[in-house]
Amino acid sequence: MLSTVSSYQRWLSQMRSTPASPFLDCFVATLVKAGYRPRTIRRFVRGAAHFSLWLKRREQFLTEASASEIQRFKRHCASCTCPGFMRSSRRHSSWRHGRGAGLFLRHLQDIGVVALSAPASPQPPPLLSDFCRWMQQHRGVKDQTLKIYGRVILDVLRSLGDDPSRYDARHLRAFEAAHGKRNEFA
Ligand SMILES: [Zn+2]
Repeated sequence: MLSTVSSYQRWLSQMRSTPASPFLDCFVATLVKAGYRPRTIRRFVRGAAHFSLWLKRREQFLTEASASEIQRFKRHCASCTCPGFMRSSRRHSSWRHGRGAGLFLRHLQDIGVVALSAPASPQPPPLLSDFCRWMQQHRGVKDQTLKIYGRVILDVLRSLGDDPSRYDARHLRAFEAAHGKRNEFA
């Protein structure tokens, strides 16, 4: 509960007036469980509330926040003019506002309010992309067939490297034997 770390009404109502409010009680519970002291928790909560207010002023939803917003928010703290937060964020607690915002975002991700950012899908090797493009343009090969070719080509590239000029018959036969064996057991 928010009131377990402060009984100061003005502070409580300021925190409660921000978009972070519905999530602050469980955020505090998580920080208490992690072993932070009430004074540090108050600063982190202040950072979280400030972050949510800053997002609102940028017409962004808290639920859509990501790590890149935390970086922008940290830069904002250096020149903050948010009513009620300006003084504290410009002084020594600026770092804690950024840290509080970061912990708050992680907490929102942990409880499923904010989606975890999907890892960037790995780019296919250029040789494979070129091959797929050529097969589509000149042979009219369908996506489904290309996926099957793609798996074999990726296996070749991983086993023999991405420089076809270095492949020789011996390498290809060894790959074919290993690949055939893998598929037997698949
Ligand atoms: Zn601000």
